[in-house]
Amino acid sequence: MARPQQSTPDERGHFGPYGGMFVPETLMPALLELGREFQAARQDPAFRDELDGYLAEYAGRPTPLYFAARLSEVVESRVYLKREDLLHTGAHKINNTLGQALLARRMGKKRIIAETGAGQHGVATATAAAVFGMECVVYMGSEDMERQALNVFRMRQLGAEVREVTHGSRTLKDAITEAMRDYVTNVRTTNYVLGSILGPHPYPLIVREFQSVIGREAREQIVARERRQPDLLLACVGGGSNSIGLFHPFLGDESVDMLGVEAGGLGDGLGRHAARFLGGTLGVLHGDRTLVLQDASGQIARTHSISAGLDYAAVGPELVHLRDQGRVRFTTVSDDEALDAFSRLSKLEGIIPALESAHAVAQLLKMAGELPEIVIINLSGRGDKDVQAVAKHLGEELH
Ligand SMILES: *Cc1c(COP(=O)(O)O)cnc(C)c1O
Repeated sequence: MARPQQSTPDERGHFGPYGGMFVPETLMPALLELGREFQAARQDPAFRDELDGYLAEYAGRPTPLYFAARLSEVVESRVYLKREDLLHTGAHKINNTLGQALLARRMGKKRIIAETGAGQHGVATATAAAVFGMECVVYMGSEDMERQALNVFRMRQLGAEVREVTHGSRTLKDAITEAMRDYVTNVRTTNYVLGSILGPHPYPLIVREFQSVIGREAREQIVARERRQPDLLLACVGGGSNSIGLFHPFLGDESVDMLGVEAGGLGDGLGRHAARFLGGTLGVLHGDRTLVLQDASGQIARTHSISAGLDYAAVGPELVHLRDQGRVRFTTVSDDEALDAFSRLSKLEGIIPALESAHAVAQLLKMAGELPEIVIINLSGRGDKDVQAVAKHLGEELH
């Protein structure tokens, strides 16, 4: 039987026409070294054992694959939730930051840096730095710092230095630019811990590898429960790390359908959503070629989503390649639909999802009655961080 392509990039990180290494010459040696060290680490049983140990005893893996009985009844399918929301720090991001921090330590680096938008990746990086006793600097746009004051406090409490980025749109995009600048300057002492399957090679590969633990566990867990693979996988797509983490180990299973859910925001029109697969065009952003939301002259567009984690102008290059191959399909869910799903899952299952994850749940609800038999949803994070935003949206004051 012909097996579908396993989606391996070439040595410069090209997934077909996407990906690559569009960086200043000064960064190339560091990225090539990072790629080599990563390949050595992933084949080193001692490295894998140490990472597995931290994932288990510190972060809380394996996460349950929970059969959601009441939700299943509503949508007329057998629905399982992969509970990444139960991990330490509340989302899948810790899988990647523990891996990259250990990789940095293996390379003799004592300092790690990161970008953050909503603060989730910054908190997960600061957490990894704390547990491994490393210095940590997190770049964050001043507008995001204001909106996410709680996460700024968390990072500082964890011992990280949060550096305010005051130029450009003062959001995630500018924070990434600033983190890359720091990396170029301090490459001998510092590793850049990137938060999704974005950026120049080898980051899309590294982050995929560290997040694929989600899908590897899910494959075993679903077979133990159902004696077969699922029919459909659903995951929300910001940069794409939680979705590729679930999808990748299933790519060779032809019968498993995969659907990524982007932020449809307020609806049509550049600036009103973060739906790269609908409104994006080919471009280069932060070191890789991919689909980018941009205007006709190549200016990066503003994006909008009620969920900060899905609110980014570009998407992981591997996902675009998988879309071209017809292996993964993509769709969008609006702010209102995500809010409704946030509320429905809370009441049906006693699980308050992150607004990002609520997009995947919303897509499930939209497909009610037309779903295949067995579905797995990646519940990428918990909703504690979002209750204030949701309350505000509903017109309720919290004091
Ligand atoms: C950051 C985040 C996302 C989006 O990022 P991906 O790289 O697409 O996974 C989704 N869910 C949660 C809970 C997040 O914190």
